Formats: sequence, structure tokens, C-alpha cells
Amino acid sequence: MRLCDRHGCTEPGNCPAPKSPNSPERWYFCQEHAGEYNRGWNYFEGLSAEEAAEREAAETRTADGYTTSRHQQWAGSGDGSRSRDELRALEVLDLEVDADFEAVRLAWRRLAKQNHPDIRPGDTDAAARFQAIQAAYDVLRVAEEQRQWKPAQ
Ligand SMILES: [Zn+2]
Repeated sequence: MRLCDRHGCTEPGNCPAPKSPNSPERWYFCQEHAGEYNRGWNYFEGLSAEEAAEREAAETRTADGYTTSRHQQWAGSGDGSRSRDELRALEVLDLEVDADFEAVRLAWRRLAKQNHPDIRPGDTDAAARFQAIQAAYDVLRVAEEQRQWKPAQ
């Protein structure tokens, strides 16, 4: 019997979860930890970019036994592919994976305006979306800056 991949868990792991988008590799979690992982998947919600990064690092440590530095992840995306963080961020902003930074900026401004606490006072859903949108934009902005710093190929 296969055990849950969550470190230290001894429940049967019968809920497969993709390790990253478009990856055939799977974690196998128990029901509780699959739920936890899926919530983590949508981790921008209610988290600042920094908190999200910390949580991601903690999860990577737990599941893999080692931590990949975020800098390495971004350095690896110079071939035009995007990191998992960026893909999630693009999803939050309702954009395609090949959206350029101008599109990111426009989507961010549009969505941030729609969900801004001044426009939607007392709307907690909008407030959560507003936070997620800001966090997503931060991820994409930093990734864009990382690319700008590298010499042209
Ligand atoms: Zn478990």
C-alpha cells in the first residue's frame, strides 16, 4: 500500500496531485493532505507575495527534502518557459501563458480597479481577489525584471 507523500503522514496515499502544471509526475496524498495541497495550489488567495513564497519553500522542503532557490527557478525560465509561480500568477490575472508584460500590466490595472476596496467597500471576496491580483502582479513584475537583467541572447 502506498502511503501519503506528505512527510510524516501514515495514511494511505490514494489522491494523486500533479507536481506542477503539465507535469506527468504526481504526488500521492491522503484525502486530508490532498485538500491541503489543493488549497496551497491556489495559494495567492489571502497571502502576500512574501507569505506565498515562504509557504511554497516550506512545501518544497517537506515534499522533496530539499529547497530549490527561487532565483534558480527564475534563471531557468530564460528559454521562454515560465516558472510555476508565474503560471499561477497569469491564471489569477486571466491571461494566456504567452502574455507579454504589457498585457500583464493592463490586466493587473483593470482587475485591481474592479476589485479595489474603495470601489467595493465591505466586499470581502473582492478584497481577497484584490490581494491575489497584487501578489500575482508582484510575481510577474519580479520575474520580468530578472529577465531584463540578463544579457540578450
Ligand atoms: Zn496525508
